[in-house]
Amino acid sequence: MELSRCCCNFDLAVVIQNFSAATRFVGATSEIENAASRLLQRSVFTARLHLNFSNVYEHFFREHQYGLATQTFPAWFSEQLIGLALAIVGGTIFLVVLYAVFQRAPKTWWILGTLAAVVFSFVLLFIAPVFIEPLFNTYKPLTKPEISEPILAMARANQIPVRQVFEVDASRQTTRVSANVSGILGTTRVALNDNLLNQCTLPEIRAVMAHEMGHYVLNHGAKLLTYLGIFIFVGFALTRILFDIALRRWGKKWRVRGIADPAGLPLLALIFSTLLFLATPLLNTVVRVTEREADAFGINTPREPDGMAKVTLKLGAYRKLNPTPLEEFIFYDHPSGRARIRMAMDWKAANLPSGESAASETRSPSP
Ligand SMILES: [Zn+2]
Repeated sequence: MELSRCCCNFDLAVVIQNFSAATRFVGATSEIENAASRLLQRSVFTARLHLNFSNVYEHFFREHQYGLATQTFPAWFSEQLIGLALAIVGGTIFLVVLYAVFQRAPKTWWILGTLAAVVFSFVLLFIAPVFIEPLFNTYKPLTKPEISEPILAMARANQIPVRQVFEVDASRQTTRVSANVSGILGTTRVALNDNLLNQCTLPEIRAVMAHEMGHYVLNHGAKLLTYLGIFIFVGFALTRILFDIALRRWGKKWRVRGIADPAGLPLLALIFSTLLFLATPLLNTVVRVTEREADAFGINTPREPDGMAKVTLKLGAYRKLNPTPLEEFIFYDHPSGRARIRMAMDWKAANLPSGESAASETRSPSP
């Protein structure tokens, strides 16, 4: 689960650019920007909407330099355009709702606005696997029973309501391995990507799939949505205070009349984006803690410590394995490779066959 894909990418210029595109779409007159964009990126909207230079470098050229990307530039760019179109539609709907809230509740907008943002995130979480992901990739039932049966056995053992495993053609875009258990209310789906199938052994695949099932069983979707709601609530409350202070000082000069005036959106987004940027370590830590829970589930269920350790080493191709504690705190939305391998080996040491386990050492000696 990658609810917070990006670390400190503070790109307000892009946000402004996206929002002015969105406002042209709805016919607004002033140059206003996309507060929703940060929310979308930070939460569940996986389509990337940056069409700026740093995005091209980060997501096209650098991926190719490291041998992680498989697309030609036209193919990559056309997918970016699909992402942009989705962001414009989604962002516009969100902003229309947000400004309706501003107009009706100019003093308490930050409470109702939080509710609107959480409902919006929930809807995206619900529709993304069914309506958005198929625009980029094809999901088909996995036809290898030697792989799908052990995965389905873990799903059955953990009350996950699925009958088949899906394979997604992620190798169209990338060489990265990944998997997911997504959806709610009858749309639950277990899927793994073809890179995972082609690059990993069955113990490694079982370890990865169990981690993903951990997110489902431990209800991480709902929990992260709740945490996101708390962050947005605090963020909106602080935004309201700072926005009002700025308006008192510079409102006349900037010709911004109030919160419901779209001309104030650049200021609103600047304040909210800055707060979100400053909260990056906290957001990453919240996500990292849930990832660690999924790791614990992902090792107890398949009992594959070596599989978990080996696949962690493979992920080390694009994740620094041994960061400093400060680096991990600020930038990591997953436990570091070192922490994961340590967890796997601690588990293994505690679960050695009878007579060799750490637990046996505490047994009282026989007379
Ligand atoms: Zn995860």
